[in-house]
Amino acid sequence: MHDFRYVGKKLYCEGVAIDSLVRKFGTPLYVYSQRTLTRHFQRLDGALAPVKHLVCFAMKSNSNQSVLRTLANLGSGFDIVSGGELQRVIAAGGDPRKCVFAGVGKSEAEIEFALRRGVYSFNAESEPELQRINRVAARLNKVAPVAVRVNPDVEAHTHAKITTGTYENKFGVTFEQVEGVYARASRLKHLRLRGVQMHIGSQITQVTPFEQAVRKVLPLAERLKARYGIEFFSIGGGLGIVYQPALASGAADWWQRAAARGVLTPERYAQRLVPLLQPLGLRILIEPGRFISGNAGILVARVEYVKRTGQKNFIIVDAAMNDLIRPAFYDAYHEIVPVTRRGGALLSSDVVGPVCESGDYFCKDRPLPKVAEGDCLALLSAGAYGFVMASNYNTRSLAAEVMVHGRQAAVVRERQPVKDIWAGERLAPWLK
Ligand SMILES: *Cc1c(COP(=O)(O)O)cnc(C)c1O
Repeated sequence: MHDFRYVGKKLYCEGVAIDSLVRKFGTPLYVYSQRTLTRHFQRLDGALAPVKHLVCFAMKSNSNQSVLRTLANLGSGFDIVSGGELQRVIAAGGDPRKCVFAGVGKSEAEIEFALRRGVYSFNAESEPELQRINRVAARLNKVAPVAVRVNPDVEAHTHAKITTGTYENKFGVTFEQVEGVYARASRLKHLRLRGVQMHIGSQITQVTPFEQAVRKVLPLAERLKARYGIEFFSIGGGLGIVYQPALASGAADWWQRAAARGVLTPERYAQRLVPLLQPLGLRILIEPGRFISGNAGILVARVEYVKRTGQKNFIIVDAAMNDLIRPAFYDAYHEIVPVTRRGGALLSSDVVGPVCESGDYFCKDRPLPKVAEGDCLALLSAGAYGFVMASNYNTRSLAAEVMVHGRQAAVVRERQPVKDIWAGERLAPWLK
């Protein structure tokens, strides 16, 4: 559920008309709803209330300072994947003691920084990494809290680029090897075995893969608790959201209707998993990214041209794959709606950007309302893996980001000035 809806002919975010934001801040423009972020966090946090738990927002999905501050204020922890993310979340007021550090390639410098800042756990993905963490901790005369990411080898039934929990992937330690890894790690003096972790993939829309993975790892978690006194079990993130129909999912009674249709809701997730997890007596961590931020953001683009060729109708907009790469990268679907509704017949259209790549499209052959030059379109469900994956390809500036709170709106990242794109570049001295 989210806070983007039509009031009359105009698309609103909470109490603010999107066209007013376009007039003030231009396009391409990311718009985030603080209320949606808050509700999604609280919904999940509330559903897990029967177990001792911590929600660690996967900040790689959306790391804007205002998004992080919103969640930090709600008590959220954070799942971080780089030293840069740790610096960023500290800058936003997040608590390092509620941060878990994931990722297969942590550098010495990153490990040292995270140790000094006192992260809750390093979620290690290999034995060489554990040895490295131990070495760095020894040098700093510290004890590093660690968990090992176990790969439960379950099929998450999601897109190949976002499946992580099978043996085809680079992630984690295999189920067969993991106990040996813990046994050897327990002999490293500067490690404290604090937990066990798993994450099977992203945009998972059924409870069953989560349940299968939890059931598979549960006996392991029990043994690790008995043997090493671990205190947490992180069941990862990956809760899917509804991309289609996205707008309808903003309705007040949406969760109820969704639950009736079998859509993954926080309650359904908790209902199936909490009874399994409760007897374990461990603190449960979850690391949702998309579930919290996905439907809390949109990307607004302006129509530059409408171009008809043979049988095709191309709507060329001023946002491109450098602003939102998901359709090109994951074949992702984003619902596209006009910022001002006009009515009339639908026309099969491709919405494309100005970048010189055939992959630079947002949809193909989709029935859309007729639009004209200067109209604006909103790409919905763009709050996760949207701006954070933006690039300067084609020397295009990073878009501006706006946050809405009730009737207030504020720029939470200014549009990047074009000259900043090459500000760090230098002419080689022999070219001067
Ligand atoms: C990406 C990631 C997440 C978050 O995934 P979502 O699908 O956005 O919930 C959680 N944990 C780990 C280890 C990840 O790599």
